[in-house]
Amino acid sequence: MRIWRVAVVLWLLVAAPLAAQTFPEDAADFYVNDYADLLTDAQAEEIAIVLDELFQSRDIEFTVLTIPRMADYGHTGSIESFATALFNTWGIGDADRNDGLLLLVSHFDRELRIEVGAGYGDALNAPMKRVIDNKIIPYFRLDDYAAGIRIGVDEVIYEVTDRYPGEYDNSGAAQLWANFKRFLVNLGWWLLAPFAALIHFGIKIYRRYQRNKPRTCPNDGNRMRRYLEEMEDDSLSPGQLVEERLESVDYDVWYCDRCEHLTIEAYRNWFSRYGACRECGFRTVEGDSRTIRSATYSSTGLRETDYNCHHCNAHYTVKTTIPKKTRSSSSSSSGGRGGGRSSGGGASGSW
Ligand SMILES: [Zn+2]
Ligand SMILES: [Zn+2]
Repeated sequence: MRIWRVAVVLWLLVAAPLAAQTFPEDAADFYVNDYADLLTDAQAEEIAIVLDELFQSRDIEFTVLTIPRMADYGHTGSIESFATALFNTWGIGDADRNDGLLLLVSHFDRELRIEVGAGYGDALNAPMKRVIDNKIIPYFRLDDYAAGIRIGVDEVIYEVTDRYPGEYDNSGAAQLWANFKRFLVNLGWWLLAPFAALIHFGIKIYRRYQRNKPRTCPNDGNRMRRYLEEMEDDSLSPGQLVEERLESVDYDVWYCDRCEHLTIEAYRNWFSRYGACRECGFRTVEGDSRTIRSATYSSTGLRETDYNCHHCNAHYTVKTTIPKKTRSSSSSSSGGRGGGRSSGGGASGSW
């Protein structure tokens, strides 16, 4: 009996430290740490670019980690407890907003988890489960880890920001259109194509009718006529002509035979990338924005947009400040991370 007790004490002294939980080192990369070697360098780089774009444009820290197996780090429990503890050890995401995201793949355990920061509450649990089951696991079952991770990353970003990578700066109309197209593709575009074509056609005919129906002169009630495109030019201002050439605005000129009254009607192209110029007011300005300096914990960042006007040749630069990142002083973090915490939100899956 006594010997048995001694053995237990000895076992606790020796075995417990051996089984102590460790975590993968947060060293290699801010965005992608591929310890299980599931990605080629090019694939990892491609994913890192997407994650960097998210960080630069939305200030959301999202990191991907692959490991061979959790046992390598002395972990014997669930992937949920491993992911939560790892998330908090690394301190992923902003410490005030707690908006970090982690995609963890444990290769030989055949388990994965998307762990989300405490700031999301439970809101993302169901969407993350759908992403795992519908988007990632089908690829993992085919051993196509790179595709599963890449598509999973895109889908997580969409759930969190309502935007897919590369679409953060879309105009409102362009974004609606992109979403609508994706919606149709997901449903099976070929099924809906005839209906979509019909609706599109109907809207077009209605618009054309509205645009072409005869106008009445406000002076004398005479029926007005519309100039042909070539005839419009004399009636339009130089700025309006540039808008027509850039296809940002289309103009119709209606005239009255009797009193020479002119009505100019503008049809704005909602998909145009040209905006209104600060100097001349026409929709002839093109912007090109870039991050000059990313925000850090000690200083604000700077974004610059260069505007060039195709009408008045105005060049101006608008600087916008990217707010300083904040981190609570008590948080432990490494690798330049924000010190964010997770309270166990997210979803898991296995394949
Ligand atoms: Zn008239
Ligand atoms: Zn201008």
